[in-house]
Amino acid sequence: MSQQFKSVLLVGGAGFLGSHLVQQFRTNKPDVEIHVFDIRPFPEKLAKYFTFDPKEITFHQGDLTSAEDVSKAIKDSKCQVVVHSASPVHGLGKDIYEKVNVLGTQTLLKVSKELNIKAFVYTSSAGVIFDGSDIYNANETWPIPKVAMDGYNETKAAGEDMVLKANDPENGFLTIALRPAGIIGPGDRQVVPGLRQVARTGQSKFQLGDNNNLFDWTYVGNVADAHVLAAEKLLNADTRDAVSGQAFFITNDAPAYF
Ligand code: NAD
Repeated sequence: MSQQFKSVLLVGGAGFLGSHLVQQFRTNKPDVEIHVFDIRPFPEKLAKYFTFDPKEITFHQGDLTSAEDVSKAIKDSKCQVVVHSASPVHGLGKDIYEKVNVLGTQTLLKVSKELNIKAFVYTSSAGVIFDGSDIYNANETWPIPKVAMDGYNETKAAGEDMVLKANDPENGFLTIALRPAGIIGPGDRQVVPGLRQVARTGQSKFQLGDNNNLFDWTYVGNVADAHVLAAEKLLNADTRDAVSGQAFFITNDAPAYF
């Protein structure tokens, strides 16, 4: 038996994945009101990739680490579902990750629970299990390493841990974490632009390994679709217990050579 929801708040919804979340919710849940909460305005230039008009969404500008900003957005949007895909990009100093991924996630969880949000979907990262060693055929039982690869992955793991521990079915607060690896597709600001930059600046003269290294890339539309499905599964009494409080890797069918 599925519980309907009328409004969703996409935290980090002005980002690369966030804008595809808007598209997937618009396409798959046409009756659901879409609200975006982000520290920066929705980039109008992304509109060319989508079938929705950015004017159809309600935008709330604010900082995830501010309980006041988050609380106002949840109250104004009257949302039942929060999707948290906000994070600073990879490659910055640890302080900003601590602030946004740990303090921000903690703040959003607390306010969401207080304001009776029903389903909380967190975009984690496949990097939470990566410590620099090769990983083959890992599934969700793979342990989180004691020493993370870097500050980004360490704080994504800390955020994920808080989200999963906050799962509280008895009080109607259901959480889930989704772990994509590299996300590619229209609007990508990191992966393909980064590879292009490496090629442009002639930094591709060294080869690590035997050219058989595998990496997992997932198309952004599929990652966004997984978030819509996660919200649906959490709100369905028949599937809720099988998914809530758990993390799931999100991949295409097979890893790709890198
Ligand atoms: P992005 O930078 O395009 O989007 C993140 C959004 O979060 C941005 O719009 C940014 O303004 C917003 N944000 C950052 N700090 C904020 C704050 N304090 N308050 C409110 N909003 C804030 O990044 P993306 O590639 O779309 O990543 C989305 C999510 O997916 C992140 O959680 C990231 O960790 C995760 N992820 C990304 C990849 C990838 O390859 N891009 C891989 C695995 C996981």
